[in-house]
Amino acid sequence: MSAPASIPETPTFVTHLECGMTGERLPADTLHNLSPKGYPILVRYDLAGVKAAMTKEKIAARAPNWWRYRELLPVRRTENVVSLGEVMTPLIPLPRLARALGASGAVIVKDEGRLPTGSFKARGLALAVCMAKELGVTKMAMPTNGNAGAALAAYAAHVGIETVVFCPDDTPQVNMDEIALQGARLYKVNGLINDCGKLVNEGKAAAGWFDTSTLKEPYRIEGKKTMGLELAEQLGWELPDAIFYPTGGGTGLIGMWKAFAELEAIGFIGKKRPKMIAVQAAGCAPIVRAFEQGERHARLWENAHTIASGIRVPAAIGDFLILDAVRESNGFAIAVEDAAIAAGLDEVAKGEGLLLCPEGAATYAAYKQTLADGRIKKNERVVLFNCASGLKYPMPQGGKSLDRFAQIDYAAL
Ligand SMILES: *Cc1c(COP(=O)(O)O)cnc(C)c1O
Repeated sequence: MSAPASIPETPTFVTHLECGMTGERLPADTLHNLSPKGYPILVRYDLAGVKAAMTKEKIAARAPNWWRYRELLPVRRTENVVSLGEVMTPLIPLPRLARALGASGAVIVKDEGRLPTGSFKARGLALAVCMAKELGVTKMAMPTNGNAGAALAAYAAHVGIETVVFCPDDTPQVNMDEIALQGARLYKVNGLINDCGKLVNEGKAAAGWFDTSTLKEPYRIEGKKTMGLELAEQLGWELPDAIFYPTGGGTGLIGMWKAFAELEAIGFIGKKRPKMIAVQAAGCAPIVRAFEQGERHARLWENAHTIASGIRVPAAIGDFLILDAVRESNGFAIAVEDAAIAAGLDEVAKGEGLLLCPEGAATYAAYKQTLADGRIKKNERVVLFNCASGLKYPMPQGGKSLDRFAQIDYAAL
């Protein structure tokens, strides 16, 4: 199968991979899960080579999707590019709500719900599937809270890779249905996502699965990295003052932080970095607890619960990478109550006509909270990540019945 014509033909610049904790060098172009020491693996590039090859003008002339950053992506051969019609996701300002909150800086939502499969998981899983194809994988398995499983199922189905997906049995129904419809064998497990992850780990040798769990393969970060590249380009190669990111496994936060370092290395941006703000739900906030206690690793969060299913992640294997980025950026981690998430969702939907997912609404709630407590200044330009389409989640039932045969008082409607 050939890739669409919009994929730029460029040389590739991956030199090697490395352990995210120890820096141990690992060979590229071969399959990896965790590093030998058991940590997530990062992809490294010949950035001097990228700098010579990639210019802002060249990028600007390419199709509006993440393949425009191909020199900073790992796929070697164009025939292995898997595409379902990706777009650059829009930046949507919230001027009415900003004014109501007394904010003078822009409050901007990056709406990732416009991507294939309706969530930003498409970015990471597309790259994971491309690389699986490139490296000859035929069966992929993963635990999911919904959106990751859907993106894996879709991209893998597109190239004929078999998928097996495990999700908590209370995952939003839409997610379970789309995963199954897109060809994955889906199992609903009586547990949380980390329990599902254990099943993948236990079964992979016997079943011959490639473990595609968050940060247990090197390429989902590279896909999520494109959020940082895209955001920088959309803002004229200038980063905002703060980024509010709903944090589960943290792939996106880690990926964006990596993107900014690579952009600086190739001379596209300067030293300025946004405060990276990890937003979690009060019912599942292991990163917030570790941040507040000054720890580099996060303990498992017991009895995790929240309506924001995408961030119901009791333990993250990349905890130290999340916490390092948050601290280096002078950012922080913050927990918001489910009630504030629901109220935020309602406020943005009614006030700006933008239907967020609960995780996206959590970033808005966190913005309001930190504007009130002074951690974020009113003149700061902030970006809130809405990571999925609000249509993928259960919504409060709307509408009232109307009897068309009865006398209708139209003026009172
Ligand atoms: C997966 C997911 C998150 C968390 O993303 P990570 O990068 O894994 O931290 C947030 N919101 C939604 C909607 C998600 O699907």
